[in-house]
Amino acid sequence: MKIAYFDIDGVLANDTHRVEHAQNKRWDDYFHPESVAADAVWQQGQDAVSRAQVDGWTIAYMTGRWEALRGVTQAWLDEHGFPAGELVMRPLEVTAPLAALKAGMLEEITSDPNVEQIVLYDDDPEVVREVQKRLGHSAAIHCTWHIKRAALVAEAIA
Ligand SMILES: [Mg+2]
Repeated sequence: MKIAYFDIDGVLANDTHRVEHAQNKRWDDYFHPESVAADAVWQQGQDAVSRAQVDGWTIAYMTGRWEALRGVTQAWLDEHGFPAGELVMRPLEVTAPLAALKAGMLEEITSDPNVEQIVLYDDDPEVVREVQKRLGHSAAIHCTWHIKRAALVAEAIA
């Protein structure tokens, strides 16, 4: 089995209308369920999912959103016609940086002998760098249709 994991915010979901909250570290506002539910779809993301599906990849999702948002996230994926698939989220008790968290989860997934190949589509350059460092260059694809201003990213993760 080969599995393509898709990040959600910035890859499939257009979070432009709430990203200022991330800049100000107002995470409760950035991840407010009503706000998250209102995200539009990035067409480029939807196209990437379709292409991966045609190429024989099992479609799955991997997001830094907390488990508390599972209901609203799954409903959003269903509403916008994304294929059913495993949804990997940030466990409630885990506060590890996103890059380490996702790379670690992917390492665990690849330790399953049934998994021949994985790839993560992600818009976060730190995540892409860490996953490629641990699992090889082909394990991550940097999605660049939603490039946030560098200053915004620096402020948000500081
Ligand atoms: Mg993202």
